[in-house]
Amino acid sequence: MLLSPFLNTLSQKHLSVSFKLLANIWTKERKLEYTYPYAIRGICNLITKPFTYSTCKHSDKLRKFCTVSECPEMANTEISGLPLKDVVAKLDKFAPKSLAESWDNVGLLVEPISKKKVKLILLTNDLTEDVMAEAVEICADMIISYHPPIFAPLKSITGRSWKERIIATCLENKIAVYSPHTSFDAITGGVNDWLASAFEIKSSKPLTQSYGNESKSKQYQVEISSPIVDPVRAGLVLQQIQIDVEKVTEDNVELLGDISAAGSNMKMTIPCSKSSIPRLSSIFHTHVRGTDNETFKILKYEDYPLPGVGLGRLCYLDKPLKVIHVVELVKKHIKLQHIRLALARHRNIDSSVSTIALCAGAGASVLRNVKADLYLTGEMSHHDVLDAVHKGTHVILCDHSNTERGFLKIFAKQLATELLGGNVEVVTSKVDRDPLKII
Ligand SMILES: [Zn+2]
Repeated sequence: MLLSPFLNTLSQKHLSVSFKLLANIWTKERKLEYTYPYAIRGICNLITKPFTYSTCKHSDKLRKFCTVSECPEMANTEISGLPLKDVVAKLDKFAPKSLAESWDNVGLLVEPISKKKVKLILLTNDLTEDVMAEAVEICADMIISYHPPIFAPLKSITGRSWKERIIATCLENKIAVYSPHTSFDAITGGVNDWLASAFEIKSSKPLTQSYGNESKSKQYQVEISSPIVDPVRAGLVLQQIQIDVEKVTEDNVELLGDISAAGSNMKMTIPCSKSSIPRLSSIFHTHVRGTDNETFKILKYEDYPLPGVGLGRLCYLDKPLKVIHVVELVKKHIKLQHIRLALARHRNIDSSVSTIALCAGAGASVLRNVKADLYLTGEMSHHDVLDAVHKGTHVILCDHSNTERGFLKIFAKQLATELLGGNVEVVTSKVDRDPLKII
């Protein structure tokens, strides 16, 4: 290493003064695409002999050369990392997997077996081989890839295909992969709401309705009640049942609260899975004789509609806009110089638009037959576009991932602060981009 002898002779004082200069020299010599943040991290690694890494991190003099956004690891000395399962739990809570489409493949997709704390997360829309190389370069512990890198089942993990190589590289480098995909589309404040924020809108609603269920793993509830003929005896029976249930309590059988007296009944409720019901029934019948009035009732939780959650958005604009103004707002929002427009039949770019139906990604199936002045999505087939314009709806297409990627910038801040409490560094990919470009 050319710089090592030089660095080894430096005192901490010298180093703090000339750090910025060194970062420049170092990046030029190594021809790295990453400049300050990762170059500084690399230099920190180089100087671990004369100065420990913590010395480097806690030196105020060193820190003044980089801002939080340039070099969060050095600027924020509090980054301690979190166990992978804690990060996954936060992500699952932010966008429950139950909101994803049934055909999707979301959640934790790659889990390194050896445990280590997650200190650096790389966000990307697509986990390509370029993004994979970036993750290895910056020593990411986890990649959150909006699109799932494993979708069609893999039969092997070899070097033969790019998808297999990516999974192999993740495992080799102990990098976990999480994918939220359509659960991020559905949530309030997710990808579709980010796309809708291109416009000033009066109101918006999802184009498809998502349903929730508070306890997916415990879809049933057993209710055991006992009329208070003899309250002492009734309470005793329920208590014995409670003790037996607690004895057999596993992950899928869980006692909820205490025995309660409501109205004329003493009652006990147990949320449980379907497979637990026979066991609970057996406990009940052990303690209750044929002449008793106790009842054993099985209730099933039903899914219920979640307000404001679902795919796509139908947006009612604050005030009507000309088509050309809608085009300008979209270009500005997704930072593109060119997008594609199909004007509705017998209309022009000055025609008025009051309602916009949008769907991030490939929106044809969600937008089909929705009544709106304009559709905004990433991609649609030629025939779907023809159908829309004949029905009087303009269509704007921006290429698939251009309608999704911008959300990650917003999410990065939210993830680092609100969800992970500043314990994990979060960066968005510098090389992730849509493969298509209008030239
Ligand atoms: Zn997509």
